[in-house]
Amino acid sequence: MFFHAHPDDEALLTAGTMAMLADEGHRVVLVVATSGERGQADLAPGEALGTARIAELYRSAAALGCARVVNLGYGDSGLAPGGGEAEDRPDNAFIDADVEEAAGRLAAVLTEEGAELLTTYDPAGGYGHPDHVQVHRVGGRAAEIAGTPIVLEATVDRDPLLKGIRLARRFYPQLDVRAFERAYSPGEAITHRVNVRRFARRKRASMAAHASQATGADTRTLGVMLKIPRPIYRLVFGTEWYVRRGLPPGTRLRHPFELPPRG
Ligand SMILES: [Zn+2]
Repeated sequence: MFFHAHPDDEALLTAGTMAMLADEGHRVVLVVATSGERGQADLAPGEALGTARIAELYRSAAALGCARVVNLGYGDSGLAPGGGEAEDRPDNAFIDADVEEAAGRLAAVLTEEGAELLTTYDPAGGYGHPDHVQVHRVGGRAAEIAGTPIVLEATVDRDPLLKGIRLARRFYPQLDVRAFERAYSPGEAITHRVNVRRFARRKRASMAAHASQATGADTRTLGVMLKIPRPIYRLVFGTEWYVRRGLPPGTRLRHPFELPPRG
């Protein structure tokens, strides 16, 4: 089960792993906390954007071979203009949800599915969106309640990301490298590096499904990502990264279900 904050987060962070596991015959379930109705788009933020983004989520899930999509239905908390918590957020904003209550709802889906593995986010919430930080809290607690044996925090190895962004800046000078310098996780914290190069086409299809987030200005992350020339795209997106807590430092595993050798 892959738990994400908004439609399109799965495309950027875990799409290749999802396609790989589906290909291996696993039942893959995609859960989002919100419909992303306050994302950047040509459509005005609100209910219509939420509906459009959920439709895009289903198209992405189909491209990745998901068996089921679940929306927990919280309000998209949005992002304040310079980052952090937006003040004008909806009453049911995900960041204002009681962690125990939200985790209980996610745990019910984990139990119903008999999930063996749950992905959440790193404690920093990747690039720091408050809903992503909440995914870390709610996801971790839900796995405790449901007794889910494997919890992986989906993240990005900051080192190749920065390298890729610097390369891409030659073509897209408006890319802000500084915005990525403290994001995600340093290489030494990563326990799983999953090679998803074979699934690059499906990952790209998943990204392309989120058209509302990919059109228009080049300042939108997904729009920029889709325009990255293919060889650089493969360099940056050929791997997906996870942190499994409690493993010895220096652990380097290649598959979500792989365990470190006993030593
Ligand atoms: Zn998000």
